[in-house]
Amino acid sequence: MSDFEGLKALVTGGASGIGRATADLLAERGAQVAVLDLDPSPVDKPLLAHRADVTDDASVRQAVAAAVADLGGLDILVNNAGIGAQGTVEDNPDDDWHRVYDVNVVGMVRTTRACLPHLRASGHAAIVNTCSIAATAGLPQRALYSATKGAVYSLTLAMAADHVREGIRVNCVNPGTVDTPWVGRLLDAAPDPAAERAALEARQPTGRLVAAAEVAGAIAYLASPLSGATTGTALAVDGGMQGLRLRPV
Ligand code: NAD
Repeated sequence: MSDFEGLKALVTGGASGIGRATADLLAERGAQVAVLDLDPSPVDKPLLAHRADVTDDASVRQAVAAAVADLGGLDILVNNAGIGAQGTVEDNPDDDWHRVYDVNVVGMVRTTRACLPHLRASGHAAIVNTCSIAATAGLPQRALYSATKGAVYSLTLAMAADHVREGIRVNCVNPGTVDTPWVGRLLDAAPDPAAERAALEARQPTGRLVAAAEVAGAIAYLASPLSGATTGTALAVDGGMQGLRLRPV
């Protein structure tokens, strides 16, 4: 039997990058998977697709209700939708702080709130939040983004404490630099994208970027019964960046 046979999962931001790789892996391993995304158009069968904006509470509630009705319950929530921001505290005006915090942090809160009644009913549920090494690494030129991921880390611990007696485990993954469309867009904006990619790869301990499928593997582990005694933890998926005390400057 596959690891996820009979389990029902919801993945936010599941139309692209880490979320898509996670949705695909869970489905391959036997889960029924619904994706919730601003633009679910790239999503195809067997994944179920629902449009929602995690910054809009009504939209999240509606999409979660529809997804849970399609799935017939919910055991796994992957809170993955997120956006980036670059710069120091002098570079981002208040509007940027509100907008990015609204997606990366409050978006997770809205989705979790809508999913909790269904996860409680599961009796053996798991939430996995996509955090980042930015939460604790002290990255330059990432003040706003790092602050949102620091909040995601704290939220993970608080949620783990609040829901441990309800049979809901809560963990997060801390990816390093992952080869996703997001990073592709950043590289494409550089004057010489190929040279920029080579320099980025050279700064990784492994000499390469992390693959989205490798983050998906960590998320799947934390979502699966194999990690049944693990809650309130962060799992680094960064090619050794944090463990080796390196900083991706
Ligand atoms: P991506 O841009 O490839 O995918 C993000 C997905 O989220 C997209 O499908 C997008 O439509 C969706 N999304 C964005 N805003 C949304 C909203 N308001 N409502 C619903 N869906 C929304 O990005 P990715 O690289 O796969 O990143 C996914 C997560 O991983 C993010 O939380 C990001 O912070 C985190 N992360 C990424 C990296 C990296 O190097 N790529 C590193 C660490 C952490």
